[in-house]
Amino acid sequence: MKHSKAAHLTVELIAITPDTEKVIEQAGRTCYLSFDKLSGDSEAGFIQRLIKMGHDSPLEHAIATFRIKGCSRAMTHQLVRHRLMSVCQQSQRYVDEKGFEYVVPEGMPDEFLDDYHNDMKTIEGMYEKWRNRGLRKEDARFVLPNACTSEIVVSANMREWRHILTIRTSLKAQWEIRKACLTMLEILREKCPDCFADIRPAEKQCQ
Ligand SMILES: Cc1cc2nc3c(=O)[nH]c(=O)nc-3n(C[C@H](O)[C@H](O)[C@H](O)COP(=O)(O)OP(=O)(O)OC[C@H]3O[C@@H](n4cnc5c(N)ncnc54)[C@H](O)[C@@H]3O)c2cc1C
Repeated sequence: MKHSKAAHLTVELIAITPDTEKVIEQAGRTCYLSFDKLSGDSEAGFIQRLIKMGHDSPLEHAIATFRIKGCSRAMTHQLVRHRLMSVCQQSQRYVDEKGFEYVVPEGMPDEFLDDYHNDMKTIEGMYEKWRNRGLRKEDARFVLPNACTSEIVVSANMREWRHILTIRTSLKAQWEIRKACLTMLEILREKCPDCFADIRPAEKQCQ
């Protein structure tokens, strides 16, 4: 049975540059002054040709923004390492974590689930204790776990998304960031297939 405090990961595309692929193609064709060859809506391939020759800068002209909820601070800590990505994240200085939600690790065996939930309950009590003793949120948070959920909005251009989604959907990536990035990749591949057609992560879930 799902515990009431156990979080569920959601990924939502908030915004994307309108006519993403047209913008990228118009930027790219500026280099060759080949506007006479602008693709129709249905034609694909120009952007993939740029990518194959390493001419990636036209992809920087289009941006996508996602909101991710129900993910752990362990996951966001990895995501925010991407320096060319813009980030706004729920603050544990300003948002009270009383009764926090948390992520259950995918590898947690069923027989230990109750014990895990009990540990989270204990930590919830520790946080409340320090808040009741007058500690500010920014100090009481020191006892919170990596499992604690966070909400984060991330924006990047398509060149950087290609980089992030390649390395974070690899089987070497940690399962939670991989899960979020597989969803983002699926969304972006639908919106702008020519930008992501060559990124095909392996199916097997990593441990
Ligand atoms: C499987 C995996 C395991 C990892 N394990 C660890 C770990 O144990 N410990 C740890 O600390 N980190 C770890 N990381 C994080 C990793 O080292 C990077 O910090 C993170 O993936 C951010 O990506 P990035 O540096 O490629 O680039 P981003 O910040 O996304 O930048 C994009 C690209 O811009 C260029 N760039 C950006 N900044 C610079 C710069 N200052 N100089 C030169 N080029 C730059 C690079 O080409 C870079 O690839 C891991 C990542 C993965 C995918």
